Amino acid sequence: MGDRWQVEVDRGVCIGSGMCLNHAPQRFRLDTARQSHPAAPESDADEQILAAAEGCPVEAITLTLVASGEVVFPPEE
Ligand code: SF4
Repeated sequence: MGDRWQVEVDRGVCIGSGMCLNHAPQRFRLDTARQSHPAAPESDADEQILAAAEGCPVEAITLTLVASGEVVFPPEE
């Protein structure tokens, strides 16, 4: 891959299910309010992070290419 992704969690949408931590335990943290945060705002493109974004029940996780701003996830309708 070789891309860099910006990883964002919309905290107005996150319901604290913890699914993203199951998929990518090194990449997300739950705070005391059970809101998910990326462990780092940018990351190398990573299948675990993509799986976390795909597995989020409310699509709270957005992945964007740092270089171009192109959205990696969620896919455009
Ligand atoms: S999977 Fe989605 S809803 Fe669940 S904690 Fe992670 S970001 Fe929040």
